[in-house]
Amino acid sequence: MAERIYLSPPHVGAAERAMLLDAFDSNWVAPLGPHVDAFETEMADQLGVRRAVALSSGTGALHLALLALGVGQGDSVLVPTFTFAATANAVAYVGAEPVFVDSDPSTWCLDPLLVEAELKRRQDVGDPVSAVVAVDLYGQCCDYDALSELCHRYGVPLLEDAAEALGSSYRGKAAGAFGAAGVLSFNGNKILTTSGGGMLVTNRDDIADTAKYLATQARDPVLHYEHRAIGYNYRLSNLLAAVGRAQLAQLPERVDARQRINAVYTEALRDVPGITMMPQATYGESNCWLTCVLLDPAEFGATPEQVCHHLATQDIEARPTWKPMHLQPVFRDAPRVGGAVSEAIYARGVCLPSGSALTASQQSRVVEAVLTTARSLPAVDA
Ligand SMILES: *Cc1c(COP(=O)(O)O)cnc(C)c1O
Repeated sequence: MAERIYLSPPHVGAAERAMLLDAFDSNWVAPLGPHVDAFETEMADQLGVRRAVALSSGTGALHLALLALGVGQGDSVLVPTFTFAATANAVAYVGAEPVFVDSDPSTWCLDPLLVEAELKRRQDVGDPVSAVVAVDLYGQCCDYDALSELCHRYGVPLLEDAAEALGSSYRGKAAGAFGAAGVLSFNGNKILTTSGGGMLVTNRDDIADTAKYLATQARDPVLHYEHRAIGYNYRLSNLLAAVGRAQLAQLPERVDARQRINAVYTEALRDVPGITMMPQATYGESNCWLTCVLLDPAEFGATPEQVCHHLATQDIEARPTWKPMHLQPVFRDAPRVGGAVSEAIYARGVCLPSGSALTASQQSRVVEAVLTTARSLPAVDA
């Protein structure tokens, strides 16, 4: 029986184990410690930013970034509709309303033309938005020249959700380093993992200081416990930071492995009727966190759901692309700008197994399973 293939499993080894034991044996088992400080410094250096604050999740980092930007009750925030729910949930945590903006079909990321139209419309009616959150989807950066210029022109802070994009770049600059602040995730399925964790990265000391303060129960630096704000318990454990440091040292190899997997799938599926790859923007380099394909069911002979089901019978995990937020019951009443592009991607998209430890024979198994899906289906009477 062949081993089960997961979509994007954790990839850890001897280096992570050694660092974890080092942290354990040093008795720095408390939430903070030397590995947390070192992980922050090493990540800031890696991305070329001034500050990094290690946190318990990417979602927590989004939450604190919005608070540090002053987003609150009754505010509106532009968010891509095509993303993971955490992006929009963080907006709801601070009492603000997400306004869902559609994707650019050539990148799948936030469409700058729609962002511009909405920023202008809201300025004209005197109802400006408080922030724009851009998401680097499946590792692909947004068009930051366009978004940065727009946010600057309209005086709105830009927040980069780079949870899926550590190791990617846009015009030579690291993902995470755009806007007022960037957010990373070290969840188990991401490019690097600490089992669970995240980070806020920024060039602004005020944002980093506020995030750190709020993440440690908003404790004032005095001997007695003094609080002027509602705080959170969001800091990363020293044990997990040790794992993160070992992971970060291998980032180039991990990115390289995912890019190679993407190239293998691209080559193997290139001439198959009814399959196209997620478009890759020429302005940057994606870490290829997940390789996604679009299916034309009529031409390919199977729907995304049928492909996922067939792969499951072969012990292979595949998933549809993100279901747009404007189609989610919980965000049913939220305003939106467009939506047809993300709906079309959702109707046709499949994410293929892309973990950096995926072997060549496992990649062949995935390709074979995709290609045999149509044949596996029961014949339909004409
Ligand atoms: C994974 C992810 C997050 C959340 O990160 P966690 O560390 O799991 O909280 C946020 N945004 C996007 C786009 C993600 O993919």
